[in-house]
Amino acid sequence: MIYLDTSDPAFFLRFQALLTARGQQGESVAAPVRDIIQDVRARGDAALCELTERFDRVTLTPQTLRLTQEEISESAAQVPPETRAALELAAARITAFHEAQMPRDLDMTDAEGIRLGMRWIALDSAGLYVPGGKAAYPSSVLMNALPARVAGVERLAMCVPTPGGELNPLVMAAAQLCGVTEIYRIGGAQAVAAMAYGTVTIAPVDRITGPGNAYVAEAKKQVYGHTGIDSIAGPSEIVVVADSANDPALVALDLLAQAEHDELAQAVLITDDAAFAERVVATVEETLAILSRREIARRSWEDYGAVVVVRDWGEASEIVNALAPEHLEVMLDDPRAFSAGVRHAGAIFMGRHCPEALGDYVGGPNHVLPTSRTARFSSGLSVFDFLKRTTTIETDAAGLLAIGPAGAELARAEGLEAHGLSLSERIRRLTEKGSE
Ligand code: NAD
Repeated sequence: MIYLDTSDPAFFLRFQALLTARGQQGESVAAPVRDIIQDVRARGDAALCELTERFDRVTLTPQTLRLTQEEISESAAQVPPETRAALELAAARITAFHEAQMPRDLDMTDAEGIRLGMRWIALDSAGLYVPGGKAAYPSSVLMNALPARVAGVERLAMCVPTPGGELNPLVMAAAQLCGVTEIYRIGGAQAVAAMAYGTVTIAPVDRITGPGNAYVAEAKKQVYGHTGIDSIAGPSEIVVVADSANDPALVALDLLAQAEHDELAQAVLITDDAAFAERVVATVEETLAILSRREIARRSWEDYGAVVVVRDWGEASEIVNALAPEHLEVMLDDPRAFSAGVRHAGAIFMGRHCPEALGDYVGGPNHVLPTSRTARFSSGLSVFDFLKRTTTIETDAAGLLAIGPAGAELARAEGLEAHGLSLSERIRRLTEKGSE
């Protein structure tokens, strides 16, 4: 854990180290991920089976890569009714929020009588990555599949690793609830490669969405361009901005809720009170000793955790913007006032009663969010990731006569003769016809 104080003269240098620490991890997986993608492109299903045996300890054949409907139903049936009810509540809330996001087509007629439009069209297919290496993420099934359904995507293919061959009943129940039937038991970079380039068994998809570990995030980066991706949703992060009026034990739990995801996860506390920071750190240490996922959480906290003591909340918002965290909790009296100064964060959780874990499951907004400072230029998963736009222009002769000459002039200026003639010939014919 790194302890920083903005009044320290070396603060800036030490803060730079915090900003770049996890980026270096991404670089170290780039080469193995490239090899895995090449292997899947070259050898298809055979490579998928071998890599799954190596990384997930599951022996598969091309025929067993895809789960059967019986396997899905049998596994899903094991979910107890109270957990199913919770899943249904989450699904209803996520669906409602994403339905509210649906944009409207644009259709306008301008002063020259030219009709301009923009139509939103759903993707034909999407590949949903649901992580499953160190933990199972039924909530990620909902967060991926429901926006895609709301947007109107026809084909949804889902990949989820099943370490040791174990199907997670709740993941299967979530898939059933969302009507996802095309499920492959593969994960990591090999799953991303299969969805991007296709194999004999797996047809390629138009866009791959979803969170995952450093291998998944790097693979998405490497297939981008051939296939669309949502964002880089890698190992999780949180920044908690808290004053001393908070219970240190609750702040500690919110930090650990990120740390327990992955050794590469990052949890950062920003506070204006050094004594409060000490109490939070002590509670983190105490809680680490008893958490079931303490080994992962301890690695994350020791390697990437941070406490920053600031002189005022203005400094805190500057630090938040520089970190551009995936999650930001604002545990202050006036969280809205603080959030007004935040320009870069994947999702903001406001108030003392709004832990990030609420948004992981049942809040409504998506929990697939940009990490590694990519919130500077990208956003969390939404219906927009499953839609694309087509623009339209429709004009009659009057409209062409009104704006066409300027187009012809610009074409001439660019030296593109056929462009110019395509416009000027039409204009000439219309003008001649008009003067007959
Ligand atoms: P995962 O499914 O992302 O990764 C498991 C796969 O990683 C394995 O199937 C294997 O193929 C691959 N892998 C593991 N070690 C490898 C190695 N040495 N070489 C090559 N490939 C290897 O599951 P996970 O590991 O539990 O990670 C889930 C991640 O998702 C966590 O980092 C968590 O923080 C993150 N997450 C992010 C968000 C978000 O929105 N940003 C949301 C939920 C979860």
